[in-house]
Parts: sequence; C-alpha cells; structure tokens
Amino acid sequence: MSRGERLAELVAERELDQLFVSDLMNVRYLTGFTGTNGACLIGGEELVFFTDFRYTERAKDEVSPEWERPKAERELVPQIVGRMSGRVGFEDSKLSVRQLARLEAAAGDGVELVPAGDTVEQLRAVKEPEELERIAAAAELTDSVYEWALERGLRGRTERDVARACEARLRELDAEPSFPPIVATGANGALPHAEPGQREIGEGELVVFDMGALLDGYCSDCTRTFATGELDDEAREVYELVRRAQAAALEAIRPGAVGKEVDAVARELISEAGHGDSFGHGLGHGVGLEVHEGPRLASTSEDELREGNVVTVEPGVYLPGRLGVRIEDLVLVTAEGHRNLSGLPKDLQLVD
Ligand code: ZN
Ligand code: ZN
Repeated sequence: MSRGERLAELVAERELDQLFVSDLMNVRYLTGFTGTNGACLIGGEELVFFTDFRYTERAKDEVSPEWERPKAERELVPQIVGRMSGRVGFEDSKLSVRQLARLEAAAGDGVELVPAGDTVEQLRAVKEPEELERIAAAAELTDSVYEWALERGLRGRTERDVARACEARLRELDAEPSFPPIVATGANGALPHAEPGQREIGEGELVVFDMGALLDGYCSDCTRTFATGELDDEAREVYELVRRAQAAALEAIRPGAVGKEVDAVARELISEAGHGDSFGHGLGHGVGLEVHEGPRLASTSEDELREGNVVTVEPGVYLPGRLGVRIEDLVLVTAEGHRNLSGLPKDLQLVD
C-alpha cells in the first residue's frame, strides 16, 4: 500500500471525513514534493495535492501520480477549502492560530475543522526499507567524519574551529549537518545544547561532541564524549556511569516497550549513583526526515516502540561548572530488539 492509501485508512479510523496536511515535511513524505508551498487533502477515495502556480512544473516532476493535482492558482486556501467537506482533521501541532482562523473563515458551512495532529507522523515513525538505508548511510557518514575529526586532533583547537571543520567536511561529502554540531569542552560540556565557542580544548578534559548528517533527505544523530588525556576520578566515574546507563537502555529497546519505561532504565541507574538531577532531558527521540521526530523516549512518553522505528538513546550527566558526558547511538527497533546504526566505540577514548 502506498503512503497515501495507508494514511487514508488512518483517517477513516479516526472517524474523519478528510485530513488536511499542511506541514511541509509531511507533504513531502506523502507526495515527494520539495517546494515551500504545498498541502494535501486525504479522505474517502481522494488524494489531492495543492500548490501555487510557481510550483506547477516542480509538482509535475515530483508529486507521485496517485495524487490528483488541481490546476494551481495564486492562493492555496481558496483551492483547498473548495474541496473540503464534513469532519476535516487539521494538524494542530503545526498549523498556526492565524492559519486556522483563515481556514475557518473561508470554509463552507458543511465543514467542521477538528484537531488531528500527529497522524502522518504515525506513519513516518515506522521506516520503510529504503528510508532505513538512507538513515544508515547518514549514520555511517557521520562516523567517518568523527574519525576524520579525531585524526586531526582536538587539543589546542577551539570548539568552534572543530565544529566548523566538521560542517565543512560533511558538505565535502555531499551531505549537510542535520543540526549545527555541538562541541563542548570541560565545563561547557555541562550545557546540553552548548554553542561551540572560542574556548580552546585543553588537556585532560571531557569533550561532548554531538553531530549528525543530512543525506538524501534523511538525518542521523550521534554523540560521543572524548577525553583529551588522563581524567580525574570524578570525570572517569561519570563517564562510566553514563556508558552503563546507555548500554542498559539499549537492552530495553524492543517492540512493545513504552517510551517512559526505556527512559526509566537509564534514569534509575543514574539516580542510584546520585546524579538523577543532572540528567535533565529525555533519553531519546525518533529520527528520519527530521532530526527530532517520533517516537519519544522520555519520562512522560506513552509512545510504544514498533519494529521499524529509528530512535536515539542518549543519556547524559551534566555537572554545572565542571563537566558533562553524553553518549548517543542511533538504533533501529527490530523484531528481536535493536540494531545499532552508530558504529563508533563507546569505551572512553583518549584522543589528542
Ligand atoms: Zn545528538
Ligand atoms: Zn539526539
């Protein structure tokens, strides 16, 4: 079944007559369209794609033939509401309040707009073989850029210099960074989303290094924490703790496991060691067309893992003013458990 057909089934299950898809990444997933203005209406037997006149030619090339393409007008909203009828779901996590008001004002009397977010996301969370290949390729490329960066050495260079060099290297390899790389050394490592700055990487420091590639439309995401020479006891202990927590959480990855349960496996180990308050983010997130998507592994997540999900497993401990450690793998949920797409070692690496 095509993505459009599977979505039409979900729409019927949710007792909607139609679903209006406005999020461009979802539109792209469904139709293949990569322009900046497009939307879809799904329901009954109809799969309709809308764009404006600027994208007529592109849509002809990109949009898969199962989608009806009405003649493009200058404005999208009148075209779309003209085709709406009955209970129409909209993406409440994506549509702005202003856009919704415009739709409501333009829609006819027979249309009831109801929130129906995360419907396409439900499909996106389970990857098809071709998508998996692309994600695996992005992960492999990221590994190679890590190795390249370590060969060049970290010590004596600034965080920003290392991060910029990796971005350039990714582009040399026909990819893009899937997000701006994080390189955070010493006490900066305690900021989970540190921006690489002018701090020079010294000796005997922990360096949190988080990077991913965007290749053929799909993302990867990987973190390693490296040591630039011998560490003090605290740093070594925290590293080993995070490594153990990460390994335990990986073992808990399997179809049917609930996001908050997997999160708890890592969180309990870290809490038992007295660092519960220092792990202030969720354990992981789905990765695909976007670097952050479903399902979520977090203490509040009811998401149930399914075969074909791709998620990160990334516990961290952050001690303000001192250090940070995070270890992140990208894994595929398989029938038996998981397959790790990140190939870099996780023993503490002493690097130059
Ligand atoms: Zn990351
Ligand atoms: Zn991540």
